[in-house]
Amino acid sequence: MSLFLAEKTWQELKEAVEKKTIILVPVGQVEGHGWHLPVDTDAFLAEAITRRVAELVSAEMPVLVTPTVWSGYSTREVTRWPGCLNLRMETFLALMEDLCASLIEMGFRRIAVVSTHGNHTGALEVVARKIADRYGVYLAITVPTIIARKEIESFLEKGRKGSCHAGEYETSLMLYLSGESVRQDKLTDVDTLRIADWRFYGKVFISTWGLQKSITGAYGAPTAATAEKGRRIFEAIVSVYAEFLKDWGKNEGHPGGKKLPEGTGQKGSGSSLSTPAEETG
Ligand SMILES: [Zn+2]
Repeated sequence: MSLFLAEKTWQELKEAVEKKTIILVPVGQVEGHGWHLPVDTDAFLAEAITRRVAELVSAEMPVLVTPTVWSGYSTREVTRWPGCLNLRMETFLALMEDLCASLIEMGFRRIAVVSTHGNHTGALEVVARKIADRYGVYLAITVPTIIARKEIESFLEKGRKGSCHAGEYETSLMLYLSGESVRQDKLTDVDTLRIADWRFYGKVFISTWGLQKSITGAYGAPTAATAEKGRRIFEAIVSVYAEFLKDWGKNEGHPGGKKLPEGTGQKGSGSSLSTPAEETG
């Protein structure tokens, strides 16, 4: 049976609402990704990750994936490179609020946004606030590379200096999932993320684009990427994400949902620190 909302009839979607189906909304962007990756990398990864997660959990819980939101907001700096199909921030906020409102008005209550584009994290949190104030429905704003950060970091050779945007992890994922789309003869580490050594990097929000000039439209060390690393990273992401969904899915969601079980959230998660302010993807 299809896991894609757009392939359903309205009668099937009515049943999906009655079953309290979880909706996954992949959100990417089309923008430059260095000399070696296609401009649709974020949208491609959002879709690949979300589809696989849905397959993994579908035996245990009802889940549907919406079409991928492939265009969004990029900081103006990124428009230096051709290929950025950009929305103004206001347009992106309105787009996401309207899409989520549509899902809620047809009856869905548990919606997770799966974002692979670093510039979107703060914006999507604003959307979640607006939706909660409007409907009492609390969206889950999720970034696969943050949800599986610990696992991903354990596979990386170059650490944070090699990551961020079209670097080691993103290029590895593309080598694994879409090897033919990676221009291997164009790999360069000229945009290694030197700023990652700064003691305040990731602890305050200052856009990476404003801290270090990029030459190729990338940040990181893509020469360290391999398809095998990509496989491990992909599998870690989708398995941790599936765990999250199963955990979240046990609750009745909002509004009127039960309280989260004891120990959920920051408590017992090993750290009381909030997510570092950092852009990835
Ligand atoms: Zn990206």
